[in-house]
Amino acid sequence: MKSSKETLLSRRNFCLCCVGAATFAATGGWLTPREAFAEARGLVTLIKDSAAASEVTTHSLRNNISVLEGSGGNIAVLTGSDGKVLVDAGISVSRPRLTKALDALGKDPITHLVNTHWHFDHADGNEWLHAAGARIIAHENTRKHLSGIQRVEDWDYNFLPAPHGALPADTFAKDHKLILNGATISLQYHGPAHTDGDITVHFTEANVFHTGDIYWNGIYPFTDYSTGGSIDGKIKATETCLAAINDDTIVIPGHGKPVSNKAELKDYRDMLVAIRDNVAKLKKQGKSRDETVAAKPTADFDAKWGQFVIDPGFFTRLVYEGV
Ligand SMILES: [Zn+2]
Repeated sequence: MKSSKETLLSRRNFCLCCVGAATFAATGGWLTPREAFAEARGLVTLIKDSAAASEVTTHSLRNNISVLEGSGGNIAVLTGSDGKVLVDAGISVSRPRLTKALDALGKDPITHLVNTHWHFDHADGNEWLHAAGARIIAHENTRKHLSGIQRVEDWDYNFLPAPHGALPADTFAKDHKLILNGATISLQYHGPAHTDGDITVHFTEANVFHTGDIYWNGIYPFTDYSTGGSIDGKIKATETCLAAINDDTIVIPGHGKPVSNKAELKDYRDMLVAIRDNVAKLKKQGKSRDETVAAKPTADFDAKWGQFVIDPGFFTRLVYEGV
């Protein structure tokens, strides 16, 4: 079983690093724009390696809802007699530790999995969770991206199509409602934001709200322009989330400290707006991408937000690309 997982992993994470290195050698060290994104290329490996080495930590929230931290994106779990309902699947390398954490939440089988979007750190575990009994639900664009070869330009990375069992069986375009374990689970599509397939998941009665990667808590976020992301769309989606929740809502971000709230989400929105405006102003003045990075338009925010994989320079380039 282990070797088939390893095969799956290597197929899903087929990588062009070697091609990039060959190009670098051939050009005698002159930096192409692609190579200037070296830290981005390392992102996939970094997140995967970190999951492989990471313990899975369970945080109990309320109404039988928990969040599991340590396998890529934050995973929400609702337990009950209808079976375990997961929001996001994490990375396959975490399977033993996720299994242990899920078992500790009770004996109910795994019956449902919602993908907030198609990225590997949220959907790589789809195949084993489907084999374990999960019916997969997602936005139609998530199924589309998982079905074909998917290139993420800013990660300099190609993902091969997911195996059939990993594909969402139920898809929707705008919104969708599930009633499971006595809970209303409201799925909402947000248009182009982090990708073009982002949904949020609201456990209405418990007032627990999973934002997917629309929101990274306390760290600069990634925007995937290759599959339809948009910085303006992300700000708009964040504002829609803020309007849907209240001061009592437990907010689960895609990444970052897994238990958050409305006030922190609002700080994130304000950070995005301020940096978007700073970068847009510099770009409008005719500054190149590198000149914009050199002007440090994120400086006021770096101490708080710039301490994770998306550093200030990379975040500035991502915003520059989208304004
Ligand atoms: Zn993502």
